[in-house]
Amino acid sequence: MEESAPLRSLKGVGDKTEKLFQKLGIYTVGDLLHYYPREYDRYTEPVTVKEAVEKGAGKAAVAARITGNVDVKIAGKSTIVSTVLTDRGEALQLIWFHMPFLRNVLKRGGAYIFRGKVAEKRHRMVMEHPQIFTREEYEKLQNGLQPVYSLTAGITNKLLVKMIRQVLEQKELAAEYLPEEVRNAYRLSEYNFAVSQIHFPENQESMVLGRRRLAFDEFLFFILGIQLLKEKKTEEKNLFDMKPVWETEKVIEQLPYRLTNAQTQVWHEIERDMTGHTLMNRLVQGDVGSGKTILAFLAMILAGTNGYQSALMVPTEVLARQHWEGLRRLIKDSKLTGLEPILLTGSSTAKEKREAYAMIAEGKAKMIVGTHALIQEKVVYQNIALVITDEQHRFGVQQREILSKKGGSPHVLVMSATPIPRTLAIILYGDLDISVIDELPAKRLPIKNCVVDTSYRPKAYAFMQRQIEAGHQVYIICPMVEESEGMEAENVLDYTNRLKTVFPSQIVVESLHGRMKPAKKNQIMEAFAENKIQVLVSTTVIEVGVNVPNAVVMMVENAERFGLAQLHQLRGRVGRGDVQSYCIFMHNDAGEEIQKRLEILEKSNDGFFIAGEDLRLRGPGDLFGVRQSGSMEFKIADVYQDANILKEASEAAGGILALDPELALEQHRPLREELEKYMKSQAETLGL
Ligand code: ADP
Ligand code: MG
Repeated sequence: MEESAPLRSLKGVGDKTEKLFQKLGIYTVGDLLHYYPREYDRYTEPVTVKEAVEKGAGKAAVAARITGNVDVKIAGKSTIVSTVLTDRGEALQLIWFHMPFLRNVLKRGGAYIFRGKVAEKRHRMVMEHPQIFTREEYEKLQNGLQPVYSLTAGITNKLLVKMIRQVLEQKELAAEYLPEEVRNAYRLSEYNFAVSQIHFPENQESMVLGRRRLAFDEFLFFILGIQLLKEKKTEEKNLFDMKPVWETEKVIEQLPYRLTNAQTQVWHEIERDMTGHTLMNRLVQGDVGSGKTILAFLAMILAGTNGYQSALMVPTEVLARQHWEGLRRLIKDSKLTGLEPILLTGSSTAKEKREAYAMIAEGKAKMIVGTHALIQEKVVYQNIALVITDEQHRFGVQQREILSKKGGSPHVLVMSATPIPRTLAIILYGDLDISVIDELPAKRLPIKNCVVDTSYRPKAYAFMQRQIEAGHQVYIICPMVEESEGMEAENVLDYTNRLKTVFPSQIVVESLHGRMKPAKKNQIMEAFAENKIQVLVSTTVIEVGVNVPNAVVMMVENAERFGLAQLHQLRGRVGRGDVQSYCIFMHNDAGEEIQKRLEILEKSNDGFFIAGEDLRLRGPGDLFGVRQSGSMEFKIADVYQDANILKEASEAAGGILALDPELALEQHRPLREELEKYMKSQAETLGL
């Protein structure tokens, strides 16, 4: 069996299963093999009933003899099987739903190991749906780490385990494609070993070894792919006929502020690119609030005044509308004519869309702002010369490439606030030139932060009220939209209702969340921008790009539930004007570790520093932790956590290419074949 074999060549896989797996992006045997576990489960040493009950809520494996009767109850449509374990006065109830056959399996007096989550229900300790093992079965599992995969409806973890085992047993061993010197130099394990250990590790050490090898390969192929891409691209000529124009100077002149030196410099880089001999392919990186938007607008005005179209693509409708309005205002204030921008998003009406398509096709619309609606098939550009993506880490390189393909080869400008250290950015965005805005507007006062627990809430509300009475506005972030069982976290809907009774009635409190219709979201964002709403209770939908400088207080409820990078992005919504801004991180009884993490935010407003500290705290060895939601979608590698591996892979790629740019030497041929496969599978992502 080959890795390219279709999934149905596996035993027990028919049409239906195949369809389900496709939902996970798994089409071939190879895809399945490279569908890595999300985390691992450890089968810990079983404890006694007494120990489990005394430990309280949480996952446990309990070794015990069944002391009670095995009861079967029918409640409505469900059958409930239950029994009790007792041990020196401590009782633990076990419950299963819809498993009537257990009555014949479990016997009073029988000894088993029950594994599951213990929780207190109506003053009793209960374990719901425990797995049942014999001592021998359990001991077998105890030696290894058990893979836990991301699932979709209809696919269980068990099924995945079974199928991947089948593949590993039946597949011929793959030939090693990494040259031996590379493996030796970077202490990398063998490929087949790595793949089997990532799924079914014999122990933690071998899992780490396997993971290291796979992460290395992922980076190596990515870098080699990018290098080849770069070689192809550097020759791309700028066929657009553009000259610097005085309109951009005029716009800069009449801004209510002066551009920072960093902004001015980056603007000149963009202008030089667009009026130069080769196509622009540039990443502008700058922390939240550094003022990237105006640079995008200037670039669009440069293209428009020269008679060309440009498109600005952003990840959310709220942001699209905000940019569109900002650009419209800028054009109006500068009295520029013929450059009226248009907005195109998923929630534009059919009529609006038709009109927009026509304006775009005829070239009447020079500047187009929107969401991924911009790359829908029906959009045909007349002469697009510039494509900008804002907050592209939310977007993926893929869409950028599709959009740039629609108009032949336009200039590409990518704007991102993701704090990747410059050295990493150079490796990762090998095909892009990089501009960094390393300076915030001068008048900005650093945001004042505090980390507090919920007892501080009344004080926080009083503080907010004073700020609102002084004319300012407030964001409050909750992790959830509505109440959900078993989740102890604040939700937007209940919170909004509660707040309405806290503040006097002239203070308008409104909510915003991702489940609202886009039109409703827009309406609320607009009202907030006009200060018709003073307190906006929101989920993280406002995380990206939103700009209401009059909002100067942000409070994040359940701050312990967010990652540092995300909290930093959120906080970027305040501190966008000249007025002192505040961010309150409120946590619900956080442990010491979380407290420490949050204190990093209290200490610093610098995205780069925060990313670095976060990494240091979590430590590169933290393989069980949640993946940092990040810029680049790697299957297993993480640019922060595996920064060292990334450096090594980059070094190795450099060495290989320096010696053998075509990868034609005998010892590199298997590598080249593997790379070709990789590039084919990643064609869209890499734009190859
Ligand atoms: P980001 O880099 O996060 O996208 P924005 O471009 O949204 O930041 O800018 C944040 C705010 O700062 C906006 O209100 C913008 O008008 C303002 N701004 C941008 N540049 C300057 C500057 N040089 N001086 C003062 N304010 C500025
Ligand atoms: Mg922005």
